[in-house]
Amino acid sequence: MKFGGTSVEDADAFRRVASIVKLAVNAQPVLVVSAIAGFTNSLLASVETAVKGDTRAAARTLDADFERHLSIANELLEPDPRAAFVSVVGDARSKIRQLHKIIAAHPVTSPPLQDEIVAYGEQLSSQLMTAILRQSGLAGRYVDARNCIKTDDVYGSAVPRPETTTTTRTEIAPLLLAAQIPVLGGFIGSTERGVTTTLGRGGSDYTAALIGAALDAREIEIWTDVSGVLTADPRIVPEAQTIRVLSYQEAAELAYFGAKVLHPKTIQPAVDKNIPVRVCNSRAPKEGGTLILSKSEAAPQTVKAIAHKSGITTVQITSARMLGAYGFLRALFEVFDRHQTAVDVVTTSEVSVSLSIDDAGTLPQLIPDLEQLGTVEIEKNRTIISIIGEGLRSTPGIAARVFSVIDDINVSMISVGASSVNLTFLVEESRAVDAINRLHRVCFEPSQVAPAPEEINA
Ligand code: ADP
Ligand code: ASP
Ligand code: MG
Repeated sequence: MKFGGTSVEDADAFRRVASIVKLAVNAQPVLVVSAIAGFTNSLLASVETAVKGDTRAAARTLDADFERHLSIANELLEPDPRAAFVSVVGDARSKIRQLHKIIAAHPVTSPPLQDEIVAYGEQLSSQLMTAILRQSGLAGRYVDARNCIKTDDVYGSAVPRPETTTTTRTEIAPLLLAAQIPVLGGFIGSTERGVTTTLGRGGSDYTAALIGAALDAREIEIWTDVSGVLTADPRIVPEAQTIRVLSYQEAAELAYFGAKVLHPKTIQPAVDKNIPVRVCNSRAPKEGGTLILSKSEAAPQTVKAIAHKSGITTVQITSARMLGAYGFLRALFEVFDRHQTAVDVVTTSEVSVSLSIDDAGTLPQLIPDLEQLGTVEIEKNRTIISIIGEGLRSTPGIAARVFSVIDDINVSMISVGASSVNLTFLVEESRAVDAINRLHRVCFEPSQVAPAPEEINA
């Protein structure tokens, strides 16, 4: 059971989690918790300030968040566990202050030290959660996630190593046997040498999936602030509805193309072990949420959801040398490889190739190398829109419906993913909200709503 930042944002949220866990004790839950809402952002901001040399200001950035932890403890814990937690917070504060000083003196040391600092978010929330569970009469037991999730040393987006399965089992299985409820921070891990790492923003979902897979869990539950995966981002489309059932592949595409509700890497460990993933609302636990299953079990429905990702840059390379020549694409992709830049969407014509990238930071180095291959045109501020559903494979006429509803909006780089579960294209960022809302209307009129799980099972 993974609880995200807004599911642990204040005392009421912690109370809600305790009551959700209480109902699940017989299923032998393992808890993964994120940092309290907003704390990871503050911790990262504090590092930026420290890099500039202002350690006092860096510490001040965090005062309000430490106070939030203490006020939750004040409200929910009795004197002894409260005193213990107050001292944990005190230690974190002084350790972070020391780290800020080291960063200020040697800014180049910041990547590993940044992870060391940011990891306090999840360490504090998981220790606080453990104490609150125990206070509610549950056998919570804090486990340092860094002893379970073993990673490489790419600080900020570390990749888990295979031994994570064994280390996780060794740490957690004995606790489950002793009827305890292990509580871990998400998002954090450590290298072979024990140096703290983090898995990338939103990575607590991934931690939950890795732990669920290592323990052969019956289900991986992602508890968040919305009732499951919705037909679109509810911040953009207020009418978005819960999708009852999704296939792993649909969920993976949705996450990859921007649905923040799931970290893009969450699905793979579940697929490897064929473990269902459930996404539920910690504020409305009785609302069904979304169940993510293998394709054969998922509901066949044409279009399931519309995902989008803004802040995209497109790069177009045009060269007559491409005509009938081989080796051109290899040379082109080598440039992206060399500059460690991931490409999302690719389309080609006789003499040009267009690619989309979401990290424009490497452009100044990329462009001169690309210019060796042809004329380069860059367009910034684009949004990728992706229409997702297993039924896209077999249903004629979808593209016509989709594009006719946005026929006054400029669309580029249309592609039907090789997986055939997504139809993807780019629009100008300023037209995205309008386009997504129109598409939502045409794809999800009442007769198209996903059937409830009972109907599928019937
Ligand atoms: P948590 O802190 O629980 O991990 P996140 O903020 O990372 O929560 O993810 C939940 C948010 O994802 C929702 O509040 C919603 O704004 C956003 N979101 C984007 N696309 C979707 C979607 N298709 N379905 C549900 N939520 C979505
Ligand atoms: N706290 C981390 C973040 O904000 C990880 C997570 O919440 O999943 O990115
Ligand atoms: Mg998240």
